[in-house]
Parts: sequence; structure tokens; C-alpha cells
Amino acid sequence: VADLLDQLRGLVGAAHVLTGADAAPFLTDWRKRFTGKAHAVVRPASAQQVADVVKLCAHTSTPIVPQGGNTGLVGGATPDASGNAIVLSLARMNKIRGIDAANNTLIAEAGCVLQTVQEAAAAQGRLFPLSLAAEGSATIGGNLSTNAGGTQVLRYGNARELCLGLEVVTPRGELWDGLTGLRKNNTGYDLRDLFIGAEGTLGIITAACVKLFPLPRAQVTALAALNNVEDAVTLLGLAQAHCGPTLTGFELFSEACLKLVEKHFSDHRSPFGARHPQYVLLELSDHESEAHAQQLLESTMQTALERGLAQDAVIAQSQAQSRALWELREHISEAQALEGKNIKHDISVPISRIAAFVQETDALLQQHFAGMRMVTFGHLGDGNLHYNVSPPEYGSRNIDAAFEVKMAEKAHEYCADTSETLFLSQQSAIYQCVHDQVRKHAGSISAEHGIGQLKREELLRYKSEVELRLMRVIKLALDPLNIMNPGKVL
Ligand SMILES: Cc1cc2nc3c(=O)[nH]c(=O)nc-3n(C[C@H](O)[C@H](O)[C@H](O)COP(=O)(O)OP(=O)(O)OC[C@H]3O[C@@H](n4cnc5c(N)ncnc54)[C@H](O)[C@@H]3O)c2cc1C
Repeated sequence: VADLLDQLRGLVGAAHVLTGADAAPFLTDWRKRFTGKAHAVVRPASAQQVADVVKLCAHTSTPIVPQGGNTGLVGGATPDASGNAIVLSLARMNKIRGIDAANNTLIAEAGCVLQTVQEAAAAQGRLFPLSLAAEGSATIGGNLSTNAGGTQVLRYGNARELCLGLEVVTPRGELWDGLTGLRKNNTGYDLRDLFIGAEGTLGIITAACVKLFPLPRAQVTALAALNNVEDAVTLLGLAQAHCGPTLTGFELFSEACLKLVEKHFSDHRSPFGARHPQYVLLELSDHESEAHAQQLLESTMQTALERGLAQDAVIAQSQAQSRALWELREHISEAQALEGKNIKHDISVPISRIAAFVQETDALLQQHFAGMRMVTFGHLGDGNLHYNVSPPEYGSRNIDAAFEVKMAEKAHEYCADTSETLFLSQQSAIYQCVHDQVRKHAGSISAEHGIGQLKREELLRYKSEVELRLMRVIKLALDPLNIMNPGKVL
């Protein structure tokens, strides 16, 4: 090991091979669900250094766990407990290599923070539309490796749709320059698409060429209060018909989500006098004018109110008001994390089946896991829900009596934090209940967060034998030594 560390120091510089306390922040995931060990955290500064490190690891059969901003939600960037791996952090590779405004493309190194890419594009009067609540820390390499979604997929697509070319270090340590800015290129297998969404299991993305779009003149946001999810789906159809491609965001969150945000972030409050079961955040991006966007949104909301789809609605009159509405939506994940451990499902079903999925699955969970709190929110416009489950509020009148008795019965089995342990012990049963429903409704068990180590066993349950075999064949062909993020996805 000492020899390996010395060689790594020789390749990237002693200051960039972190061990001990310096390495600790890289060994636990954002949700604090996974903690692993590693020989070291290695921080190369260039694609060539990444290639040199990978060659050394291939030579010594040392597993590599690539890491960007470490905001992933499925434990993909966390090493296992063996301590045999290195974490390869791309954080120092954070340069924008260039912008081709006429071609509407930008080349960024993998460790560029998403917000930096957005700002660099905006400085040239262009839009890079990938947008998610973790954009201040998540990196473009991580975004592509997870094929991130976010809040603009409805109009611009996932990270995959926004990428034209990649630079990748293969598991043998070869540097592949596929940084093309072409929109048409049918010259055989699309290698780029293999690495996108591979969660670091097939190679290391060192840079990407992404698509840019014209910056809209105005963005206008509204929040509508609704009675149920079915009305939200009908409102989506209405908004799409009224606004066409101007509609760039359509986010759903429940009253339970809003209450959690209000509880943990006292600055953020509902703009409505009354409480409602569901809320929808709509965003229009207009290429004509602010007045045009306001008018379009007002007439859409007016129709929704007249038809009884919306019970109330507010339209932001300034950027600050718009930000305040978005913050209600963007603080949900953090509020739920502050509330304690929770069980996340990142699912998608066809939009036409979302209302039935939520209604049936809520009822099933209440039947089998009484008292659980559903914290459901997500990108309704893409059919993607974060169908999350928090434990009952212990001690409150909401708690189910049977659950409390069960907790008391099991108390002797746990030395600490009984309620949380009992809750998490039901994770796989809850997963199965929700994911069986997803399958019933022709959906996916991971819409945008990926598989990582969290959903690896679930993948085996829901993918066909043929798909799994093809995935294993690809993995073996590219990474025969199994050094590239082993134990993730497959
Ligand atoms: C508050 C919050 C909100 C979020 N909202 C969304 C959302 O709306 N939509 C969404 O899709 N996700 C969301 N996420 C999840 C997360 O932000 C995304 O998955 C993001 O794309 C991860 O980027 P990262 O740089 O942090 O990657 P990391 O967490 O560091 O890594 C993620 C995976 O990619 C691999 N990887 C990282 N960099 C590379 C590379 N250069 N080459 C090869 N493999 C690599 C890692 O090994 C790991 O498997 C959210 C997370 C948080 C905390």
C-alpha cells in the first residue's frame, strides 16, 4: 500500500493524495446512508493524470471509485468497506475549455460545477438548461454519469439529450477523445451513450461537449393549489395546450412536503391563506417578452380556476418572488433529510397513470405499514415522482397505535435509536411494495438518480434476464478486471 501511495503521489503530487481525516468527507454520501474506506482520495488535475492513475490501478488491480460533487443519492460515489479502492475525485478538473457560440456548444472538464457551466453559458447569452437543486455542488461529469434529469427535462431532455461529445479514460487507462460538437454523426456504435448513465462503471468522463440554447427573454413562475394528483395531470395537459414549448417546468409537491419545508426553513412559507392537498409549480420561459409570459400564465391559471382544476393560484411578479416559490420546491429534499432518515423512491410511470399509481400505492402502504408519512414530490411533467416515505411522527397523535406497540415489542432488539432502526429495517419490504406497483404501471424503479449500491438488488428483481446479460457482457468487455466502480449498478 505504501508503494501504491508513493506512486500515486508521484503522478498527481503529494498534496493531492489525501488520507486520514483529509479523506473522510469523500467517504460518506450526501444522505449519510453509506460510509466506506479507501487507500486514499486522489485528485488529478488533467485527463492525462487521470489516465496515468487508471493505468497504475489496472496494473495493481486497485478498484477506482470516481467522484464529482458527491451529491448522488444512491451511494454510487462511495467506496465499499474493504478499503481496497481509491476514490478518484475530479474536483480539480474544473475548467471551461471553450464555448463555440455559433455552434451553440460548450466544452467543460468533468469536475466543473453545474452552476459554473450555466453561468459560463449565460455570460455568452446562451442557456445550459440542466437544472437541479444540487447544482451548486454537483459536477457535469457526475450529471452525465448519472444521466441527471432535474426541472427542465419537460422542454430540453435529460443530461443525455444535452451532451454531444465526451472525453473518457477507459478502464485500461486509454484516453478517448470523443469531444465532438456534431449534432449528426452516425458512424457506428454510439460510445458516448454507453458512458452516460454508467455511474462510473465503464470509464471516467474527463470532459464533455454540451448543447447550448438561446437564453429566454423572461421566465415567469406560478404556484397553483390543487385538490388531488388527478387534477395536476389534467392541469399539465391544459398548460401544454395553452403554452406549448414555453412551458419549461411543471413540478408537483404535496402538503406534507410543504409542511416539512415550513418546519425546517422558517423563511419559507406557503403563499396561500388556506391549506391544500397538492401544489404545482409552473414555469414558463418566453422568447418574446416578460409581459407576454405573464399574460400567457395568467390566462392559463384563469382557465384552471374556472374549470375547478386549481383551487387557488399565485403568479410571481418579480424574480425574488419567483425564487421564493422555487425555494419551496427545492428545499424539500433537505427538509426531509433534516427530519430524519427516509426511504426514497425515484420512480417514473407514464403520465397518464400517475394519479392511479399514487392513489393505489398510498393505500397499499397505509394498509401494510400503518402511520408512514408519504412525502411525494417531483417532476410531474416527466412522469417522475420522488415517492419518499418518512417514519410516523413519534409521540404525535398521528402515529398509528399498532406501529407504536410493534416498536415497543422490538425495543429490546436495538441498543440505540429504536424507531429509526425499525423504520429502516422495513426498507426492502417498502421498496418491494412500491416497485411492484411501478412495474404494474409500466414504470421505472430509477427515473433519474441511478442504481449505485442502493438499488443494485432491486435492479435484479425488475430487469429481464436478457437485459442483465447484455449489461454484464458490456461491463466485462470494457472492464475485464472489474476495477471501475465495482459493486455499483451490477
Ligand atoms: C438536494 C438534491 C437534489 C437533487 N436533485 C436532483 C434532480 O432533480 N435530478 C437528478 O437527476 N438528480 C438530483 N440529485 C442527485 C445528484 O445531484 C445527481 O445525481 C448529480 O448528477 C450527481 O452529480 P455529482 O457530481 O455530485 O456526482 P457524484 O455524486 O460525485 O457521483 C455520482 C455517480 O457518478 C459517478 N461519477 C461522478 N463523476 C464521474 C466522472 N467524471 N466519470 C465517471 N463517473 C463519475 C460516481 O462514481 C457515482 O456513481 C439531487 C441531489 C441532491 C442532494
